[in-house]
Amino acid sequence: MKNVYESTHPLVKHKLTRLRDKRTKPKKFRELVRELAALLTYEATADLATRPVSIETPLAPTEGDDLKEKIGLVPILRAGLGMVEGVWGLMPSAEVWHIGLYRDEQTLKPVAYYNRLPIAPTVSVCLILDPMLATGGSAVATVDILKDWGVKKIKFVALIAAPEGIEFLHNTHPDVPIHLASIDDHLNEIGYIVPGLGDAGDRQFGT
Ligand code: URA
Repeated sequence: MKNVYESTHPLVKHKLTRLRDKRTKPKKFRELVRELAALLTYEATADLATRPVSIETPLAPTEGDDLKEKIGLVPILRAGLGMVEGVWGLMPSAEVWHIGLYRDEQTLKPVAYYNRLPIAPTVSVCLILDPMLATGGSAVATVDILKDWGVKKIKFVALIAAPEGIEFLHNTHPDVPIHLASIDDHLNEIGYIVPGLGDAGDRQFGT
């Protein structure tokens, strides 16, 4: 599917396997989430714009490149939190804007319970971070929020996705690239990805 990227990197495959394993404890799980988020972001940011810059090495003046666009990291609470550190390590000057969503039991639609975005956008590229792209409801709602905020370039970075979630996000926002470590088989009757890894929030936070 266009604009959907499943990593083929051996390090990603290895770390994802350790992450899925039910014997992996929260400390190791958090470390793997952080590392996978960084590896996937490395792949997801290959097209970021740069501008030329003149610097001096200890030996000579030379030309280099600086990142041109202001980048925002947008973790979806709460499981997306664990991905921030890994990505921030690569882009320490990125801003972090948290989004919290819950599902309204009547309408079954996601409702924002935490959104402190200022009126005018402060970044031009946003990376949405959420380990699991399950039904796609939160993903679509977060892209809606960021587009309303005025962000022109949005990318979605998740560790594991269900085909159902990819389809919903891709059909609603085909311009948003989706970067993944794995496209799994299906969603079960209670909305968990199979084989997946269980509850990404519980496994990170030991709850
Ligand atoms: N959220 C999770 O944490 N796990 C799933 O499998 C689906 C959604």
